[in-house]
Amino acid sequence: MAARILSGKPIAEAIKAEVAADVAEMKNYSAYRPCLAVVRVGEDPASAVYVGNKVKTSEELGLRSEHLHLTAETTQEQLLEVVDHLNNRNDVDGILVQLPLPKQIDEKVILEAIDPAKDVDGFHPVNAGRLMQGNATLVPCTPAGVIEILKRSNIEIAGQNAVIVGRSNIVGKPMAMLLLQENATVTICHSRTRYLADVTRQADILIAAIGRAGFIRGENIKEGATVIDVGINNVSDISAASELFNDEDIERRLGAIEKRGFTLVGDVNPKEAMEKAGAFTPVPGGVGLLTVAMLMRNTVIAAKTRKRNLNAEIAEHAENFI
Ligand code: NAP
Repeated sequence: MAARILSGKPIAEAIKAEVAADVAEMKNYSAYRPCLAVVRVGEDPASAVYVGNKVKTSEELGLRSEHLHLTAETTQEQLLEVVDHLNNRNDVDGILVQLPLPKQIDEKVILEAIDPAKDVDGFHPVNAGRLMQGNATLVPCTPAGVIEILKRSNIEIAGQNAVIVGRSNIVGKPMAMLLLQENATVTICHSRTRYLADVTRQADILIAAIGRAGFIRGENIKEGATVIDVGINNVSDISAASELFNDEDIERRLGAIEKRGFTLVGDVNPKEAMEKAGAFTPVPGGVGLLTVAMLMRNTVIAAKTRKRNLNAEIAEHAENFI
């Protein structure tokens, strides 16, 4: 039987509606609107699309947003000054520096300079550490989105064998921590894992975050498993596309290659996953749609937490403020 498709769209829409309701409710008792500042450096076309999407979605949900676009020649010191300025602005709740950055800038230095309270990407070591210890924190958006897909699709996590292929700080590692918090038994695989298929075939929930088009094949999947495809890759080769898509899909995909020069493919071979898995997230239309929704949610969480902490500070030192 063909796998059940876990579409990201209705789940992302539901989360965005919840965020919009939250922002509307905040307006009832304060004129304050949570604000997301997005910093983009250089002219990477994909980054321009991602940032445009984040700014547009913020406005749609009633958040404020600022887009700071710096030239490709920006130095690390200049970018640090921008981050420092945003850290110190009381009207900015979330700061996101779009990756990748030009080669003269060390991403790690920039990500560590962001105030952890405003780190809506959840990449700061303080937030990564809190996640590791199982404390409330700003969680990286993509893995947080995967958890929403699983929960809102009524897929049992507790007690299940979850296998993640990929160990990046952005996806694989935080994904493992979140699944552990949900009481899954978690295994992380990577490029040095031996007999990968033997490990992935143990998975009730298999998560692919590798960055290689169609890498996870039918032989990697246990019959009936839930397969979550985080990967986003461009495929422009027509014969590669015929290996990846079934008869229903292939014409549309070849059309996309002809028109745009490529079609989007995840890290899982969709044709084989559809035959083997019990449930499967499509690419596009799956996990990718959740990332922006979770970013919006993180911005509201950051705004509320900052306001709460500020109010507590004012209450504690009331005499200094009167
Ligand atoms: P990454 O930093 O390049 O990490 C890739 C991981 O895959 C590494 O841990 C690597 O292992 C592992 N890997 C590579 N080749 C492998 C192999 N042959 N066998 C087993 N493991 C292998 O990538 P990432 O940032 O995590 O992103 C992964 C994918 O998710 C990409 O396609 C990216 O575009 C996509 N993504 C999507 C979203 C979204 O919004 N949907 C967000 C972020 C990323 P080693 O550590 O041993 O090198």
